[in-house]
Amino acid sequence: NIAFNVDEIRKDFPILNREVNGYPLVYLDNAATSQTPKQVMDAIVEYYSNYNANIHRGVHSLSQEATDKYEGARKKIQQHFNAEKAHEIIFTSGTTHGINLVASGFASILKKGDEILVSALEHHSNIVPWQMLCEKTGAILKVIPMNQEGELIYEAFEDLLSENTKMVFLNHVSNALGTINPIKKIIDKAHEKGAAVLIDGAQAAPHIKADVQALDVDFYVVSAHKMCGPTGVGVLYGKEEWLNKLPPYQGGGEMIATVSFEKTTYAELPHKFEAGTPNICGGIAFGAAIDYMNAIGFEAISRYEEELLDYATLKLQEIEGMKLYGTSREKTAVISFNIEGLHPYDIGTLVDKMGIAVRTGHHCAQPIMDFYKIPGTVRASFSFYNTKDEIERFIEAVKKAKMMLS
Ligand code: PMP
Repeated sequence: NIAFNVDEIRKDFPILNREVNGYPLVYLDNAATSQTPKQVMDAIVEYYSNYNANIHRGVHSLSQEATDKYEGARKKIQQHFNAEKAHEIIFTSGTTHGINLVASGFASILKKGDEILVSALEHHSNIVPWQMLCEKTGAILKVIPMNQEGELIYEAFEDLLSENTKMVFLNHVSNALGTINPIKKIIDKAHEKGAAVLIDGAQAAPHIKADVQALDVDFYVVSAHKMCGPTGVGVLYGKEEWLNKLPPYQGGGEMIATVSFEKTTYAELPHKFEAGTPNICGGIAFGAAIDYMNAIGFEAISRYEEELLDYATLKLQEIEGMKLYGTSREKTAVISFNIEGLHPYDIGTLVDKMGIAVRTGHHCAQPIMDFYKIPGTVRASFSFYNTKDEIERFIEAVKKAKMMLS
């Protein structure tokens, strides 16, 4: 592990040198997408410069090289999440794709009256596919409620869990509030009733190294673009046993063993779920992103981000009329807030004029906003390449915006 030196780290991210509206950029929208280090960009350029070819099918050298690199990336990702087998890692276009793949597969498993539990803290991508599944199968969706601090109410989960529960799905970390959910406890309890568990790891993956075997989780989904990788690629981890049980999601090339008009047989894992030419370069670049983050080290990353979070929380609370949402002690570096009497959109627009990128709105988590009876929040989300100076600029900008709007 290299020593954690934020000034050195920032040199890897060319975009952090740019200006926005005449000010040096302060990028605090990391929960939406992270920035890309040059090591990852280099991997992309190297792919298109040296060995761009379609994988798996070719006998020629370039195809072989591309296949080796792509499968090498799969192994890196396997090791990172500590999956037992490389074929338990399915390349997808991102978290949304991974969830839809599993939800679609469960259409052939669930029966009318079966129950699936979702948490109140979910992103729309971990709600809508399950609602569609319920419509298709007649299964019933039940919601694990949350409290004012933005934490799931574990006892309510225990009460909802029954012999009828076939699936539980929730995020590891909430994108709107940053809450870290007690997923190990939930997975173990769900398994006692024989229910499968899918964890949406999109927001956890940039901060926490999940060990899928230690968690004993059935499915874990992530997107590369939240962890220094490119957009349009992610992975679904699934236990081999489950992946063998689920039918293919899409038909096409790559996912078959034999095809005839009488009968087609499907390829082995992971190819069964990887129809068509995948995002080859993206997968390889995802591997490079994982290497990059691991070289810094996830412990160092989360320790540093916690410092940023504590500092920003303290400073924001000094602003009159400040209301923070998601005040659990178990949280990643995300702050959601409103200022009394002001619309989050107005605050976001004004701080952008000062070079500061934050997100405003419902953050694809409308049920959370409904819970707090608000239209949305301002969300600042930090990464390991942010600095205390940037937080000071952000706080000053919020104060200025408040003055201008009041
Ligand atoms: N789940 C969570 C918790 C997220 O934060 C996001 C991205 N905002 C998603 C799912 C969807 O990820 P993607 O858009 O990369 O598929």
